[in-house]
Amino acid sequence: MRIHITYTGGTIGMIESEHGLVPGADMAGWLRQLLSGSDELTADQVSLTQLDPLIDSSNATPDNWQTMIDDLLAHHDDADAFVVLHGTDTMSYSSAALSYALTDFGKPVIFTGSQHPLGRIESDAAANMTGALNAALSGRAGSAHERVSLFFGHHLFAGNRVTKASSWAFEGFRAPSTGTLACTGTPWEWEPFNNPCEGWHHPAPYTRHDVAVIDVAPGMSAARLAAMLDPLPEAVLLRAYGVGNIPSDEPGFADVIACTAEQGVPVVVASQCQQANVMLGRYETGDALARAGAIGTGDMTLEAAYAKIVFLLSQGVKGADFTDWMGRSIAGEITVPQA
Ligand code: ASP
Repeated sequence: MRIHITYTGGTIGMIESEHGLVPGADMAGWLRQLLSGSDELTADQVSLTQLDPLIDSSNATPDNWQTMIDDLLAHHDDADAFVVLHGTDTMSYSSAALSYALTDFGKPVIFTGSQHPLGRIESDAAANMTGALNAALSGRAGSAHERVSLFFGHHLFAGNRVTKASSWAFEGFRAPSTGTLACTGTPWEWEPFNNPCEGWHHPAPYTRHDVAVIDVAPGMSAARLAAMLDPLPEAVLLRAYGVGNIPSDEPGFADVIACTAEQGVPVVVASQCQQANVMLGRYETGDALARAGAIGTGDMTLEAAYAKIVFLLSQGVKGADFTDWMGRSIAGEITVPQA
């Protein structure tokens, strides 16, 4: 078994600086030390790419997603499984983004990071790193449907079903709609998981797109919403309430959304609930969205929905095809109701 690690940055490899934590730890040295006592995996079975520059994942953009994809593709034939070391802040955006682009990759890719930098006694870095390596060694991560996964705090999740749920807890991630793929223990407990997906062959590279992510809040006016949509973005991801409801009594609020959609801008409606199933029109307060042709995100996480919008825009998908693909499963990111 050979494992390739793509190290992108994040707390796991950070050190203190005058202005807070920054990348700078000796990742290669730490890994060598971590593997020195192991007879299952030796340091010469593991290769490492350190991306330049290493970043705090709060600075990640779709260009960084593409850099990760390029590194994985470049090393495809050198390893049997892949680990991406990443900051926790946007790890679930990246893991979702890579899941769409790597449906034909054919080998498991496991994201991990940590809440504390490596080398501290209290750190979760070693537990998460060894957990990700163990998931890779198991031969069970990266089944046909869940190629890209994320290991954190004793659990393995589908990479496009997971969300960062805590800024400090070692159990920092959750998959609110689907639960986990596996839980560590002696032995690991694997959950049955089957999210059908269609895949995407020969994806074009990720490029940056102007997607407005807007939260609805009580008392928000139509004028404020309109101002947020001027100039018009390429797509809107509106975080509404519950199953996809907005303040429909607020004068002009629904009209701003209808007018945006009429100008050809896809309006995608997600929920502020972590565990959600968006159903536009279930309530009168969401009906105007349905009539305007807004697209509900079903049970997708916000991160999976955002990355999917950027993915589809990067592929040049527009209009009715865009609406159609938002509701289809590219990589298991959404539960598609059976006909
Ligand atoms: N700000 C850090 C990052 O996302 C947080 C972390 O890694 O835990 O890179």
